[in-house]
Amino acid sequence: MPTPVILVHGGAGAVDPARRPLHAEGCARAAEAGRAALAAGGRARDAVLAACAALEDDPLFNAGHGACLTAEGTVELDAAIMDGERLELGAVACLPPFANPIRIADAVRADGVHTLYAAQGAARFARDHGFAPLGPDALVTDAARERLARVLAGAADRGWAGGTVGAVACDAGGHVAAATSTGGTVAKRPGRVGDTPLAGAGTWADDLSGACSATGVGEAIMRLGLARRACDLLHAGSADEAARRAIEELGRRVGGSGGLILVDNGGRTAVARNTETMSWALARLGEPTESGF
Ligand code: ASP
Repeated sequence: MPTPVILVHGGAGAVDPARRPLHAEGCARAAEAGRAALAAGGRARDAVLAACAALEDDPLFNAGHGACLTAEGTVELDAAIMDGERLELGAVACLPPFANPIRIADAVRADGVHTLYAAQGAARFARDHGFAPLGPDALVTDAARERLARVLAGAADRGWAGGTVGAVACDAGGHVAAATSTGGTVAKRPGRVGDTPLAGAGTWADDLSGACSATGVGEAIMRLGLARRACDLLHAGSADEAARRAIEELGRRVGGSGGLILVDNGGRTAVARNTETMSWALARLGEPTESGF
């Protein structure tokens, strides 16, 4: 029986060296929220949900509170959760402001009628399931506003924000789960959907192999089907080898930048990236939490 474990990330990118420890600490807090769920006898799915929601609540990261903005200054959120036992999936895309998109994605999973809702339909599903919509500015931080202003003024590159969040876990039953949540990319066109809510691209979990949450340039990640590719590679090698090979393919085959976290169905974990940074934290039951960037 594997020792329950949770691994989280706070997005691939190039975080300023002075701020890297802050990102690692945010990840460590989220991993501990996930570990608490596992310690209470929760499933892998409960753990990734708790960790991802904690990261959405932390304004440091590009998900939930602190999400990056579209070219029109609005918030459009993407999130997905997948349970590897029965391949249950729930996702939302282009969701208007709600505090915890990952909880809405999980309600989509539990509801079971559809797997992915977008935009106003996603908002309606959320309201109908008891989630309270927020005002247009409720999740917007000064940092997100400044970032958009710099991009629109041509002082920074359009696109990739960094700070997307995700979690993977394996519980004592050998069940795995993955969750990922993001505001997407800075100054994205309204209606743009990234890899995060797409099964196999940003998020994947299958008890027959493992679970993966990816981050980086969504357009490249979805072309490769990165999260599923990494899990499939577990059939041919260790978690470390699978993670490294999947990221190598992301760069070589589609010119993508990004990172991923991976756990196999025996609880072995791996982190890989071809970017400058990707904050992460690992919490295994009975062991001290590790974190890094
Ligand atoms: N993958 C996310 C997206 O393209 C961005 C990120 O990971 O930072 O929406």
